Amino acid sequence: MTVTSSRPVRVRIAPSPTGDPHIGTAYIALFNYVFAKKHGGKFIVRIEDTDQTRFRKDSESMILDCLKWVGLPWDEGPDVGGPYAPYRQSERTQLYREYSDVLLNKGHAYRCFCTSERLDTVRKERMSQKLQGGYDRHCRDLPWPEIEKQVKNGIPFTVRMKMPLSGNTTFNDGLRGPVSFENDGVDDQVLLKSDGFPTYHLANVVDDHEMQISHVIRGEEWISSTPKHVVLYDMFGWQRPEFTHLPLLRNADKSKISKRKQPTSINYYRRKGILPDALRNYLALMGWSYGDDKEIFTTQDMIEHFSIERMTLGGPVFDLEKLAWINGHYMRSLPSDAYVSHLREEIFSADALSKIVPLIRERIEKFEDFIGASYFFFSGDLKYDPQLLMPKGRTPAEAAAILTDALDALEVLESWTVADITAAMEGFLAAKNLKAKDVYMPLRVATTGSKETPPLFDSMAVIGKEMVRRRIRCAATLLLSLPMPEQSPAPAKSPAGKN
Ligand code: GLU
Repeated sequence: MTVTSSRPVRVRIAPSPTGDPHIGTAYIALFNYVFAKKHGGKFIVRIEDTDQTRFRKDSESMILDCLKWVGLPWDEGPDVGGPYAPYRQSERTQLYREYSDVLLNKGHAYRCFCTSERLDTVRKERMSQKLQGGYDRHCRDLPWPEIEKQVKNGIPFTVRMKMPLSGNTTFNDGLRGPVSFENDGVDDQVLLKSDGFPTYHLANVVDDHEMQISHVIRGEEWISSTPKHVVLYDMFGWQRPEFTHLPLLRNADKSKISKRKQPTSINYYRRKGILPDALRNYLALMGWSYGDDKEIFTTQDMIEHFSIERMTLGGPVFDLEKLAWINGHYMRSLPSDAYVSHLREEIFSADALSKIVPLIRERIEKFEDFIGASYFFFSGDLKYDPQLLMPKGRTPAEAAAILTDALDALEVLESWTVADITAAMEGFLAAKNLKAKDVYMPLRVATTGSKETPPLFDSMAVIGKEMVRRRIRCAATLLLSLPMPEQSPAPAKSPAGKN
């Protein structure tokens, strides 16, 4: 990443509000923030919410809350405004349509009238013939009268960019140097969908240009989109930003970090009692080294010492133990009053207690019993008695399958209320033809560690989705690690088979 004096440094993160705020967003945000501060630039948050099918209502406020908590204040964004407002793409759709027209008028884009059925067939055919790209560019050179006729008849169309048919597209990556793609392997990307909404590619390029973004620092999953983006910059005649693609966070098995293998929600780490300073320090180590084997440093320290040369290209493994080690350091150095405030605000907050008390108050007679009756609301991973996790007559593998299938049914929930959880679990029981006791007891033990607890779904709602998910996974992993009982039937893939 180089900085030219002619262009003020302006960087951004552009999260899509499609789910729980992801730890990867905090990681990319940290590097953008540090880069901006290092160079006296601006750090911007833009919400990319044009994909209506993936959009989730509360996600934007959750993302902003989480980033605030992480401690990476932005200079411009949907909540604070700024000179290039609005910072929410759904409020900028007119602009994308105008720029799509610019490309059509310049002959750099075309209307594609292909139906989704045709596109499906073509994609499959091309795949079976091992051809590059999924679209055959059928509409790229339609004669003008044909186009006029289709438009007049109200045939819906998308707008596609005309990728060059030969040669290479090359851009310079801040970490990798020149990166080249053969153009005939890059599809004629759809820029505007038939509903008039832009795709990510058009909106992203238009906004980065309009918002004067000087450096695009994002995850490496976007590298293959970048040739499309640089061609768009060239078509519009705009100055390209400098691109840097950061290595993705990985699971221990080196696959891309995923919530199936470990918690990815920022809220999980907050709920777990990770301090924001520790999280930033840890995320910094994922992509950069301070030098001198120094592992504990503040974000301010990082800003002062930051340089691209000490960024790493390897796939950094997100290691919970290392994070805990760093957190321990920050926790121990907290002054006592800050320590107590943290406990009051994050662990024993009035909000948390007011949710827990109604579930406990009928169950105890002395306040001294409160902690014992409610510890599982406050603690992290639990210790299990494996026998309690197994419904009568089931093998450990069957019990594990019940838990992971139940988790699949919970996983899809967008909101996590008692009513949502109840409906999901009742639907699951009916769909798999399972008895309540076979599911609810292991689920209760997995999520609370005990057989005697307040109502299960109320407890799950208070514990929170991320923590419930984590505990169910840990319980299933424990079950699968048990020796298989002799003469037990082969592990059932789905517990439904039993009934
Ligand atoms: N909206 C994209 C995302 O969700 C932004 C990618 C980019 O930074 O260009 O990550």
